[in-house]
Amino acid sequence: MPIPCALCGGSVFRSALRCEGFTYVRCRDCGLVQINPQPETSEVQERYGSTYGDDYLAYETANEAAFLALQLKTLEDARIGCIEETFFPFGRRRFLDVGCATGALLEKMRGRGWKVSGVEISTQMAEYGRRIRGLTISTLPLEDNSFAKNSFDVIHASHLIEHLNNPATFVREAHRILSGDGLFLVITPNLAGMQAKLFRGRWRSAIYDHLYLFSVKTLKSLLRREGFAVEQVVTWGGLAQGLAPLPVKGIADCLAKKTGLGDVMMMKARNM
Ligand SMILES: [Zn+2]
Repeated sequence: MPIPCALCGGSVFRSALRCEGFTYVRCRDCGLVQINPQPETSEVQERYGSTYGDDYLAYETANEAAFLALQLKTLEDARIGCIEETFFPFGRRRFLDVGCATGALLEKMRGRGWKVSGVEISTQMAEYGRRIRGLTISTLPLEDNSFAKNSFDVIHASHLIEHLNNPATFVREAHRILSGDGLFLVITPNLAGMQAKLFRGRWRSAIYDHLYLFSVKTLKSLLRREGFAVEQVVTWGGLAQGLAPLPVKGIADCLAKKTGLGDVMMMKARNM
């Protein structure tokens, strides 16, 4: 059964992207692109939680350094946890990483003086982060943790929101547990980017694991509706590696970042 649109509650959908074996539809009223009907929440959580846990752990540990470098670059763009940071005085540096994988970013932020916590439903990865890095990581979905109001100053969620059945309840919960002027950083593929337009149903982010594909417009709408003010949008990635000679890729990457047509976007939103 199709579910109402997660952004506007609409129920009229039109075909948007035809992929191998499934189709994305677009909500007629708000434009949010989604897989609908969707696999059950329990099925999705089971998949990440345990079924493919060993595969995810192997993938993460093999790519950890590269992923961490990208995440640190993104935080630098958002001016959080770096030298230029001006938002939070010492003592008010509570950082939650949702979808923290093996906790490499949490370890780095802890080293920079932040009080860190993680949420990671993949039990194998959470266990790795606890055992190897001594981190506090919950394996419950964010909404099931009953964190108190005003528990965090920064919530970071990288390549997570597109996997969730209920992105709206996730954003609402982030809003509830952030401090009054806290920051929410959301990183997700950009449906309005150059590569999505070029490849359509063969775009590398158009995969069955991604239940929603956001554009700058739809993600902004969702964040605003749940009480955030969007302060910064950065997109990056013009062409995937191997698609074009390096100098061409360099130019495309630079253009993508300048024009908002990058393949991935980061939105920095402040709690209001
Ligand atoms: Zn809608």
